[in-house]
This record gives sequence, C-alpha cells and structure tokens, in this order.
Amino acid sequence: MSPKIKLALVGLHHETNTFSSVPADLDAFSMFRGEEIEREYGNSLTTNAGYLAISSSYENVDVVPLVFAITGPIGTITEDAFDKIVGEIMESLENYGPWDGVLLSLHGAAVSEKYPDCDGEIAYRVRSLMGPDVPIGLSVDMHANISQEMVDNTDVITVYRTNPHLDAKERAQECADLIVRTIQGDIEPVMWLETPPMVINIVKQFTGDEPMRSIMSDLQEILGKPHVIHGSVAEGYPYADVSEMGMGFLTVVDSSKIGKSEAKKTSRETAQWMAKRAWAKRHDFDNDIPDPDKALLLANSQHTPGDGPVVMMDVGDNIGAGSSADSTHILAEAQRLGIQGYLQTLYDPESVEACIKAGVGSDVALSVGGKTDRLHGSPVSVKGKVRTLFNGKFEDPTPTHGGFRFYDGGITAVVDTTDGHTILLTSLRCGNTSLEQMYSAGVDPTKYRVVVAKGVVSPRPAYQPIAKEIILVNTPGLTTSDLGYFEYSRRRGDLFPFNRSTDYQPCGQNQ
Ligand SMILES: [Zn+2]
Repeated sequence: MSPKIKLALVGLHHETNTFSSVPADLDAFSMFRGEEIEREYGNSLTTNAGYLAISSSYENVDVVPLVFAITGPIGTITEDAFDKIVGEIMESLENYGPWDGVLLSLHGAAVSEKYPDCDGEIAYRVRSLMGPDVPIGLSVDMHANISQEMVDNTDVITVYRTNPHLDAKERAQECADLIVRTIQGDIEPVMWLETPPMVINIVKQFTGDEPMRSIMSDLQEILGKPHVIHGSVAEGYPYADVSEMGMGFLTVVDSSKIGKSEAKKTSRETAQWMAKRAWAKRHDFDNDIPDPDKALLLANSQHTPGDGPVVMMDVGDNIGAGSSADSTHILAEAQRLGIQGYLQTLYDPESVEACIKAGVGSDVALSVGGKTDRLHGSPVSVKGKVRTLFNGKFEDPTPTHGGFRFYDGGITAVVDTTDGHTILLTSLRCGNTSLEQMYSAGVDPTKYRVVVAKGVVSPRPAYQPIAKEIILVNTPGLTTSDLGYFEYSRRRGDLFPFNRSTDYQPCGQNQ
C-alpha cells in the first residue's frame, strides 16, 4: 500500500471592495476550526467541499481541515484581523504537521491594510514555513486578481470557470488532485501567469454570453494541448484597487517528461495566446446598460401575463460584491413611473423593527432603504400592510452561486404597499442568489411583473429559470458598472478601459 499522504486545509476567504467603508475586522469574520469546517462545508459545493472530497478519491490521502475564516465582500481587512487569522493559520500548520502538502482556500481578491496582495502574502508565508519541497495548491474565485506572488509561492492554482460560480467544488478537487499527483511524483507542475493590462466590466462577466463565452472556449482549446495539465482565466475584480487588479490567464504544464525550460515555454505561450485573443476583444467589454427609468419602461413593456417576471439586475447594489443591499434607485423610479407588480428586497433593520412593533396584518407607513450611505439613493416613503414576518433563515440544496447552502437574511418583514409593490425588508445583508429567499417568506416571485435582483451575475442561477427576460440596470452605488466613478490609487496606470490607448505586448520571451 502506498504511504499515507497528509494534506492541510487552511484558508481566509474574502473579496475586498476597497471602496467600501465597512472594515473587515475580526468580528466580521466567521471562523471555522477542524471538524467545524467539515460540518459547514462538507455537504456543499464550495472550494472546501472539493478539497475535503479528495480523501475519498484516494485511499491513502487524508485532508485535515485546520482553520478557515470567511466574511462577506466588505471593505479592507484590518491589520488586527489579518494578524490574528493568519497567525492562527500558521500556528495550526506548525502544531499539527508535518505535512505532505497544503491546500489553500482563498478568494484571490483579498486586501488587508498592510498587504494589498493579501492572498499573495498568505501564500508567501505558507511557502516560507513549508519550504520549497512541500507542494501547495490554491483554488480561487473567478474574480481573483491573481498576482505573481501567488504564482511564485504555490505549485498549482486553479480558478472557477463559471460566472455565476457553479464549479467551485470541481475546481478545488482538481487542484487537490494535481497536488496529490505532484506528491506522488507523477507530475512536476510549472505555471505561467499572463496579465494583459485590462480589467473587464462586471456587466460583461457572465460566462454564458459573449465575449466571455469565446474566451472560455479558448481555454478549452489550450487544455487539449500536450503536457498542459490545467489552465484558467480569472476575470479579475475591479472594485479592489490593487496593482494586480485585472484579468489573469494561467496555465499549468507538466515538466516531468519535457524538462523545466520546455514546460515554461509551453505554459508561457499558451497563456499568452489566450491573453492576446482576449485583448483583441477588449472593446466588446464596454459598459452599455440602461439607466433605471429606461430599464423599467423596457421591463414593463416586455411583460406579458403568464410569462414570468422581467428580472432587473441592480448592478450598483451588488450585495455579493460588497454593496449596501439597501439601494432605492430603482424603487424610487418604479414609484414615480407607477409600475405595478414590483418585487424587491431591501436591507433595513429599522423598518423591520417597526413592522415587528406594528404586527402582522397591520398598516404601516415606512421610510425604507437608502440608510447605509449616500451612494445608494434616499429612503423611500411607502405605505402598506405587513403581510408576514419570518426569521430569515433559508436553505437551498440546488446549485447556487459559490455553492453555498445555508443563508440568513435576519428577521424579515414582507410588506405589500398601496402602490402595488412587495418589499422584503431584511435585517441582515443577504444576496438575491436563491429563490428560497422569497418562497421561505411566503412570496411567489413568479407572480410579479418586475422583480429586482441586487447583483449582476450571481442571481442568475436562481432567477434565469423564472425570468421572461433579464435586464442589467446601470444604477449608481458602491458596485456601479461606471468604473470612472471610482478614484483608484494603486491600479496599473496603463489599464484598459481607463486608458483606452494602452498597448499590450506579451513579455518574458527570453525566459
Ligand atoms: Zn466571484
């Protein structure tokens, strides 16, 4: 029997919106240790589930979950939170070793106060502790801003290939598998990261549509080439202002039969081939979506009874990307235009409190949403009846964005307003990525004319099946698709589309 292989699983998962004023301090993180990681994620479709599953693919592999910290996509990770979480990760690696390999569960777009390339710093620390001979695998989100530091300090990086993210588990499993094969001496991975100077607008990141669809088929083409054992496209995350912000093209080539320098050449050429083809399409990524008034009129005109709702994506209030969840830009416009049969959620604990006081069945007059900051519209006055109150916890076993299963919107009040709208008021920020959010509250979204989902791509797995049409809406907010709104200080100066005359020449020809 082959010798036992012991792999450590550690991670810090955070997509940092550096423009958010809500700091990611220690209290903001949920911490899972040891068995807790297995209990929370073992049965899900997440990266951790993929890592854990590798134990059942090999008789001789044990994955030991140690420490995993996660928080929703809010602002920068405080120095204290980074020190404590990463400190605990490093301590656990030291205390429970030795290890044959390490599996890192990171998002890839984390930023801390001290380390703009937070994921690169973690990889560097783990590599420094483990030394050069212990293989390290890293599986990241498709929104990762992949840095050279991350590549230099790991042996294999895998990236989700779908947005909405439905393959987190699969990609993590592949990562773990490549690490096991490396440990067994079957392969010797060599990686190349190509980062053309481009960042793509969030409204063009859906992998089911052009231009992403053909970029993902380019990836399939290089995966068929000899010795290429893995490849990835990272879309990048335009709300994390860091020097590595942007797209990343990555290939992993097995050097065991062709030698290191030939493998490096193959990985460079294949990554650059993908990057050049994406660069040629850069103008197709331009933001061209309608404002709320135009979008609402369009939605209203497209609806036909019995056909399901027209779903409007509130791009500026993308909860999954760190926004406030209480934007009223579309609601205010819907009120002004007299749109009927309109449904949306709003994060508003104050109004929930008022509904609890009034009680189910009571009439209420509320000023809803727009309370977090000045970016997401003003509170909107509504009158209506409290239809129901519920605890806000719901479960979705079907594939959802990121593979999560359990959700908590906090105590939720459903209010039917006198102007023909239904508003789900939540007391926690909770994305619109599962229809169970509505059904658990006793609301049937298919009965509405217009449904607002806060996000760009993440609500699609839930809403596409019931939507007559999906319309992306150009709303202001912390995640607006109008990137000219933000003041960047760390991103590369030559980045397209900020600099439209930028040129891209693949480098590293002599390496
Ligand atoms: Zn993502």
